[in-house]
Amino acid sequence: MIANKVVLRFASSLVGQPIIYHLVKEYDLVINILKADINPHQEGYVVLELSGDSENYNRGLKYLRDIGVEIEPLSGTIAWNRDRCLQCGACTSFCPVGALQLARPEMEVRFDESKCIVCKSCLDVCMARAVEVRF
Ligand code: SF4
Ligand code: SF4
Repeated sequence: MIANKVVLRFASSLVGQPIIYHLVKEYDLVINILKADINPHQEGYVVLELSGDSENYNRGLKYLRDIGVEIEPLSGTIAWNRDRCLQCGACTSFCPVGALQLARPEMEVRFDESKCIVCKSCLDVCMARAVEVRF
């Protein structure tokens, strides 16, 4: 038995495909969707807990890779250092789930850890190193 939290990213061409259905039906995997953002004409992502028999689990992951889905383990947590933050706002336009966002009307950057999917997109953007991964 294997159980993991993973982030799946897929191109717009795959957005309409019943990927989750296949994982359940063909590979007998148990899926708990934690977060998802799927738009018809854009890249989509799903954060999920995936569990099942180890052979089925590995076959399911192979199926995903074969159709072009990127798979990343969900590991660590993101720490935001308010004191280091320059309030430049650059990270907020890269954060896909609004975990880092500009609060209005103050226009202050805020971090909501409960929304973060640890995609790490903000790490490369932040020149002040105000965000980091903690394992
Ligand atoms: S990119 Fe870094 S410095 Fe700029 S707002 Fe985000 S966390 Fe703060
Ligand atoms: S890792 Fe950064 S960009 Fe990704 S969801 Fe968390 S705060 Fe947003």
